[in-house]
Order: sequence, then structure tokens, then C-alpha cells
Amino acid sequence: NYFRNDASSILPAKKDNGGSGRPRKRQKKILVTGGAGFLGSHLCELLLGTGHEVVCVDNFSTGLRRNIAWLKRFDSFRVISHDIVEPIDLEVDEIYNLACPASPPHYQADPIQTTKTCVIGSLNLLELAARHRARILQASTSEVYGDPHVHPQVESYWGNVNPFGPRSCYDEGKRCAETLFFDFHKARGVEIKVVRIFNTYGPRMRPDDGRVVSNFIVQALRGEDITVYGDGSQTRSFCFVDDLIDGFVRVMASPSSLTGPVNLGNPGEFTIGELAEQVIQLTGSRSRIVRQPLPADDPRQRRPDISRATSELGWRPTVDLTEGLAQTIRYFDELLSLPKRQVLE
Ligand code: NAD
Ligand code: UDP
Repeated sequence: NYFRNDASSILPAKKDNGGSGRPRKRQKKILVTGGAGFLGSHLCELLLGTGHEVVCVDNFSTGLRRNIAWLKRFDSFRVISHDIVEPIDLEVDEIYNLACPASPPHYQADPIQTTKTCVIGSLNLLELAARHRARILQASTSEVYGDPHVHPQVESYWGNVNPFGPRSCYDEGKRCAETLFFDFHKARGVEIKVVRIFNTYGPRMRPDDGRVVSNFIVQALRGEDITVYGDGSQTRSFCFVDDLIDGFVRVMASPSSLTGPVNLGNPGEFTIGELAEQVIQLTGSRSRIVRQPLPADDPRQRRPDISRATSELGWRPTVDLTEGLAQTIRYFDELLSLPKRQVLE
């Protein structure tokens, strides 16, 4: 139940060490920027559930209060409404920098703010990490590969990115953020982790998010036309949120020599047309598929090479597309049955 108000199922284990004689792991103080968003709220939940203290910083531009409302019953959870473009000072052990709109319509709505969030926001958090000797993880993206000429995408590929197109605020912003992360590591000794996330989906996405999985499911459940952009032959690889969050935590806990970049994604590759068919089948919808123009600079193909994550972290996704879509459909079904004014609370 993604709207539960009962945190008991993930409350940390009792404070003793279970009589095993083993010392308990030290509780860390962890900053999650973008913690009210889709990925950030799942990460906050996992970190609180494993006994850590979590500070969520978010400007609520695309995040929802509902995503984190029920986590407030943890004494170890704090929410600060703040824009990372402005500096912030908090004494923390670890930082996950997730703050940034991720969906094309959202990041293109205010492209200058998107670049500022990626670049100035990262700079502010790297300064904070340097000041407090905190380890910092950057949520980078497969978009750094642009419209890739190398397939599947391996971390050593430099990408094919338009520097002034509609996607550039995000793609170039995230590329510059990676540059800052590696330069803070080299010049100031900051412990960094850079993960390149490939299309991830699951419960807690907004119904108006605008990305393909949420669009198709919401359209199918409402019986509206399913909008395939272009001829639907472009490909993406879809990772279920739980797998990705497990990857985040593994990367953060890895030896300091592993800075990344590390690809995190599900290597199963599907055309957008196949995704539309699958959503129709799983929802039993009578929606029709309609074609709309392909947006400018839309990447033709995308699939992660995850050999690095598998060999260095033992990580690989476990949830296949059918199972992940079924869980996501259940979530949207429940969400859309709420009174209209509550849906985007
Ligand atoms: P999301 O839009 O649901 O979450 C982003 C969160 O950041 C929101 O809560 C938003 O309010 C907050 N935010 C945005 N700008 C901010 C700012 N300037 N200051 C403070 N908070 C701000 O998106 P998501 O899918 O959860 O993505 C999280 C991160 O992962 C993003 O950095 C995104 O670029 C990255 N990522 C996600 C995917 C994916 O498929 N979900 C893929 C690649 C990269
Ligand atoms: N897409 C689509 N219909 C939609 C939304 C997206 O066909 O309603 C396509 C989009 O053109 C792209 C793919 O689905 O080819 C993935 O789009 P999304 O915005 O989810 O992510 P990104 O392009 O950033 O990978």
C-alpha cells in the first residue's frame, strides 16, 4: 500500500544487538536532496528502515508531500524546504544528490533553473561535502550519452549530446555536474560516487510526470488514447525502482576507490511500441494507440552495459518489466481512485 500511514513494517530493528555480541553499525546522518521526489522518497524510506537518520531537502517543484508524509513519524526524519541552488550547511556523513526534475516536460519548463540546479546545486553540495568530509553520490543519467552511437552504452563512451537543444539544460547540466564531482575528488579529496541512471519507473511517480511509463499507464487506466511519439521504434531499457535503490546503497557503501561513473539500469531493451502493447495487455484497457510527433533530439536507442556494477558491486536488477509494470499499475489504479484534489498533494 503506497499510501500507508503505518510505518511499523519498516521501523528499525530494536535498539539492542540481538544478543549476538556483535556491535551495532553506527547510525549515519544522511542528506537526501530531492527526497520528496519519486526516487528520493523510496531512498529515504530504505535508509530510515535500516536505522539511519535522514534529512530530506527539497523545493517541492516536482516532489509531492504525500510521498514523504508518512515518514514523518520517524523521529530520525527531518524535512527542510530549500532550493539547492542556494547554499546550505548541515553536518552529515553522507549525501545523495537527487534534486533535479527528471522528466523532459518538467526539466524543459524552466531550462535555466534546471541547469542551475545541476551545476550550482552540485557545487553547493560538493562544498558542503568538502567542509564536513561527507561522502557524496550524484544521481547522473544515461542522458549524458545523448543519442548514442555506441550500443549498449558503456561508461567509457563519451556520448553524443547537442549543447543547445531542448534537452541540453538537463544533459549538459548533468555532464557538467559529473565534471565538478571528479574535480572535487581530484583537487579537494572529496569521496565521490557517480551513478548513471537509466529510465526507472514505479510507484510514487506523478500521474502528470510526463515520462513514458506513467503516461501510458494513466492513459490506459482512464481509457484515453495512448500517445506514442514517432513510429514507436525507438528503444529504452526500464528499471524497477526497488532495484535501482538497492544499487544506490551498494554504490554508496563501496570502497572509496570506486568513484564511478557506474551505469545502473535494467538491460532489457524494448521499443516504445512494445511498451504500449504491454501496458494495454496488463491493464485490459480498450485504449487505442495514436501517433504524435517525435520530440527534437529524442534518443533512438538506449540500453545500459551493467558489467561494471555487476562485477564490482554484485548488482543486477531482479524485477522484470511485466512484474514491475503490474506493481506500478496497481499504484496508479489506487492513486487515480482518490478524490481529484488529493491526487497531487
Ligand atoms: P522527481 O522529479 O520525482 O524528483 C526530483 C526531486 O527533486 C523532486 O522532489 C523535486 O521537487 C526536487 N528538486 C528539483 N529541483 C530542486 C532544487 N533546485 N532544489 C531542491 N529540490 C529540487 O525525479 P526522479 O525520477 O525521482 O529523479 C531523481 C533524480 O534521479 C534526478 O536527479 C534525476 O535527474 C535522476 N535520474 C532519474 C531517472 C529516472 O528514470 N527516474 C533517470 C536518470 C536520472
Ligand atoms: N514517449 C512516448 N509517449 C509519451 C511519452 C514519451 O512515446 O507519452 C517516448 C519518448 O519520445 C521517448 C521515450 O518514450 O522516445 C521515453 O521517454 P521519457 O520521457 O520517458 O524518457 P527519456 O526520453 O528521457 O528517456
